[in-house]
Amino acid sequence: MPAPNIDTIVSLAKRRGFVFPSSEVYGGLGSAWDYGPLGVELCNNVKQSWWRWLVYERDDIEGIDSSIILNRLVWKYSGHEATFHDPLVDCRECKSRMRADKLEGYFPEGAESGSPSFDANARLRRGLVKCAQCGSTNLTDERYFNMMFRTTLGAAADEDDPAALAYLRPETAQGIFINFLNVQTTMRRKIPFGIAQVGKSFRNEITPGNFILRTREFEQMEMEYFVKPDAEHLKLVDEWVALYLEWFKGLGIDAENLTLHEVPENELAHYSKRTVDIMYRYFPERPEEERQWEELMGIAYRTDFDLRSHSSKPTDAEGNRVNPDSTEDLSYFDDLAKQRFYPHVIEPAAGVNRTVLAVLMDAYSEKTNDKGETRVILKLSPQLAPIKAAILPLAKNKPEIVGMAKAIKRSLQPVLRAVYDDTGGIGKLYARQDEIGTPFCVTVDHQSLEDEAVTVRDRDTWEQERIKVSDLAEHLQKRLKPYPNPAAELM
Ligand code: ATP
Repeated sequence: MPAPNIDTIVSLAKRRGFVFPSSEVYGGLGSAWDYGPLGVELCNNVKQSWWRWLVYERDDIEGIDSSIILNRLVWKYSGHEATFHDPLVDCRECKSRMRADKLEGYFPEGAESGSPSFDANARLRRGLVKCAQCGSTNLTDERYFNMMFRTTLGAAADEDDPAALAYLRPETAQGIFINFLNVQTTMRRKIPFGIAQVGKSFRNEITPGNFILRTREFEQMEMEYFVKPDAEHLKLVDEWVALYLEWFKGLGIDAENLTLHEVPENELAHYSKRTVDIMYRYFPERPEEERQWEELMGIAYRTDFDLRSHSSKPTDAEGNRVNPDSTEDLSYFDDLAKQRFYPHVIEPAAGVNRTVLAVLMDAYSEKTNDKGETRVILKLSPQLAPIKAAILPLAKNKPEIVGMAKAIKRSLQPVLRAVYDDTGGIGKLYARQDEIGTPFCVTVDHQSLEDEAVTVRDRDTWEQERIKVSDLAEHLQKRLKPYPNPAAELM
């Protein structure tokens, strides 16, 4: 039983220290969130799982960490300055401002859906598009709004000095493209190979919201997989979709709550020839099944668009350089085929925050104890659980028991994340650990002082087992170990 809605997770996240509304002491900042002690661990575990899966377990992917602020020309030639915008409309009735292409009725349906003569303003004027707030169809024409955050570089720079203008990156991908040759030559890579990067991206979203699903500052896990121009690109998209579905399932997400969306041609980003989105059921409470889904990640075939755009050599029909600013040619020489070409790219782009939200929603469950009380259990995959074992003394006024529990915590720490907690009665402590997804509670009692053994309690079954302290680390590691291991090398 996953969470019935996002609000359930918002309240659990705040109550238990996963995610807090940002800047609360000043009344908050719309759609900005701060990750608390457990949230930061969960995010780190998602990122580590991803990094291990792609960069360590496969042998064809390197990692990098590029700057967030890049030379402005990167965004000129990537096409973002000209085209990274969303359509914006205002409702004349309730005065809300919204992203038009997310509204009911914006895109034609059925036979008209693939129509090349799609005219959004005509649809808006015909009253086919509905305000998300009040349902009115009295909306303005759409106008485009560039979503890149602007800033100025240098202490002396004037606010609107074009020479000082820079952007916060709206995707991590461009940092990969401009480093393609650096990575390929220093690591002596041959195509096919990939470059992965995880880090913050920024988009001035028109309508952020739904907790951490859509924020203006977020984290991405992107990978650019470079292949030959004549590779089977569309099939490769399907292969990466299959791999990511396995990865998400390995994180504990039920396949029932994942679905695929083939992005229609008229909605593709400017660089994409094909995109398949993996969607998660973020809105299970909505009665219409098709409105329950939102994008978790996208897998795009970006062609050779980016490497070519950033290269110095390509020319237009008149023989003029398309990019007169670039000082490098990002082409690749294939030794075997004795051919030079711009590699084509398959890009799986996932969001850390949307993954965290999906994982939390899917792990949410409730269980009734013998007293008829309902308890929340967060059935997080052990690899993602912020804390793997909580060491709890049965009597906190007994120095020997407390000393033994603290010593056990210290001895476990080098092999797994453990905490010591004596802030309540044992029932309360168990309930708290269940609610934050800790797979094991280890209780130290009077008997432990005699028999050098402790009770290990399982989060999901509430079953208890007596284990010798000398065997404890190995025992826990074994039970934590069968991490669902997504197949790294299906391809
Ligand atoms: P959407 O259509 O939902 O705006 P997108 O298709 O523009 O998303 P991509 O450019 O494909 O998103 O970015 C890759 C991933 O980055 C998304 O699938 C999502 O997980 C994450 N992402 C993008 N925008 C945001 C955001 N504003 N807040 C949180 N995560 C985001």
